[in-house]
Amino acid sequence: MTMNATVPGALGVATPVFVDAAAAFIAANDFDRPTLVVSRDRVSAQYDALHAGLGRAHIHYAVKANPAAQIIRLLVEKGSGFDAASRQEIELCLAQGAKPEHISFGNTIKRASDIAFAFSAGVTLFAADSEAELEKIAAHAPGARVYIRLIVENSMADWPLSRKFGCAPSALPDLLDHARDLGLVPYGLSFHVGSQTRKAEFWNPVLDQVSVLWHAARADGHDLQLLNLGGGFPAFYGEDIEAPRAYAAAVMQAVETRFGAVPQIMAEPGRGLVAEAGHIAAEVMLVSRKSADDLHRWVYLDIGRFSGLAETEGEAIRYQIATPHDGGETGPCVLAGPSCDSADILYEKRPIHLPLALKSGDKVMIRNCGAYTSSYSSVGFNGFPPLDVIVL
Ligand SMILES: *Cc1c(COP(=O)(O)O)cnc(C)c1O
Repeated sequence: MTMNATVPGALGVATPVFVDAAAAFIAANDFDRPTLVVSRDRVSAQYDALHAGLGRAHIHYAVKANPAAQIIRLLVEKGSGFDAASRQEIELCLAQGAKPEHISFGNTIKRASDIAFAFSAGVTLFAADSEAELEKIAAHAPGARVYIRLIVENSMADWPLSRKFGCAPSALPDLLDHARDLGLVPYGLSFHVGSQTRKAEFWNPVLDQVSVLWHAARADGHDLQLLNLGGGFPAFYGEDIEAPRAYAAAVMQAVETRFGAVPQIMAEPGRGLVAEAGHIAAEVMLVSRKSADDLHRWVYLDIGRFSGLAETEGEAIRYQIATPHDGGETGPCVLAGPSCDSADILYEKRPIHLPLALKSGDKVMIRNCGAYTSSYSSVGFNGFPPLDVIVL
């Protein structure tokens, strides 16, 4: 299938445009259950754009965003590294041909036997944010390289990652010393600016904090080699974002001015690599009103919070929905999933506008769902099957 065509741009120069292969596939096929369709060519193009913008920073794809084996294999072929969170994710990457030295074990909460497995498989780069985790790593991966994850403040992300991960800045000096005393190699620092950080400039206050700690640690005698920028690269969900290459280049520019000569830089895009490459084919189950004078319609889809759309939690990520009636008159809707759980409501506080003609049985397409959908779908809550995935 040919995904890219060239058309004359405004200046008569040929510029590439996307033929949206996933959307075309959804339009041309019938699905008997919610199905995520992902285009590998689109992932590939997104990788190229991020790679070009990131320059010397090495990409370690955050596997949890979409663990489809074909996507992992494609990224192996393109030279990507991988940020894995568990033994299973490491095994997946290895099975698809990734070299262990290109896999980092980035979860700060690891099972001891998973650390031992990773180390025996050749993985030598681990994340930690506490003394106890460093001790586990020292016991099961002696001499390994560790980077310390920091809590950063001022996250402007649409999906912030909270205080669950990272140590407070004040804890960093002791952790680096502790790592060294345990025979580990204090190799670098990491942070996560928050997922779906829509503008590159939102990174600046975070980079300010981390660079102060970086320089202080080096002044303390820790010869840090690695700055791990984490993820946060955005996807298009309706609100404007910068193009991936320009965004990544702006982040790198901000890094270079603050950090100077960092030997090794790593970035861990998840959403920014795969979200726009996939759409979900879904179906309207029911359109109803709670009373004759109800101003809102309730629209129930065959996919909800538990079958792939978990990121609608807090109405944080607002997906765009294409319907067969687009262009017609619209009205406000509460959007909900099909399961018998009252939490299975996608958008209620901020209703979404959908065509008045929408009715049960209509096929709809939920756009830019390639990240954090299949990996978040339950195995069978209420008997609904997990999200089906087709990789083109
Ligand atoms: C989830 C995660 C990422 C990916 O974040 P995105 O916002 O999807 O790019 C990167 N690094 C770590 C450690 C993560 O846990």
